[in-house]
Amino acid sequence: MSKKTLAIIKPDAVKKNYTGQIITNISEAGFKIKAMKMVKLTTNSAEGFYEVHRERGFFRDLIEYMTSGPCIPIALEKENAVDEFRKLIGATDPAKAEKGTIRKLFAVNIQENAIHGSDSDDNAEKEISHFFSRNELLENYNG
Ligand code: GDP
Repeated sequence: MSKKTLAIIKPDAVKKNYTGQIITNISEAGFKIKAMKMVKLTTNSAEGFYEVHRERGFFRDLIEYMTSGPCIPIALEKENAVDEFRKLIGATDPAKAEKGTIRKLFAVNIQENAIHGSDSDDNAEKEISHFFSRNELLENYNG
């Protein structure tokens, strides 16, 4: 089981100034921040990141939303990181998310759902390298 996952604090949450509270939540749940930056995604980059959803009806809306303002990708580490982080953020639709989860606390709706979490170890690896260079990661993962 890999210890890595990728989180993104999404544009709706950044816009509403929830960044601090969300990072506190993540830290208190025992995740270590290994790399973090604020970026405004280009259409190209957002489409690459969400390539698996290209055929879905909501794809264009999703890309528009993810490029609507800055977001904050964060490379995280914890034992069993992918599953543990998915538990912490809750269901995709905040209406269905459990009480106390990040999406329940901060999301607006099924699209503007405040935070991303990788859904498998393979995707975590790919998603971390979507945002962070080898050097950026090496420095911090070895620390
Ligand atoms: P996740 O793994 O929980 O983020 O969910 P998915 O991989 O299924 O979807 C990726 C992202 O697309 C979600 O986090 C939402 O931002 C968005 N999304 C998912 N389902 C829907 C939907 O039915 N409608 C819209 N508008 N957006 C959606």
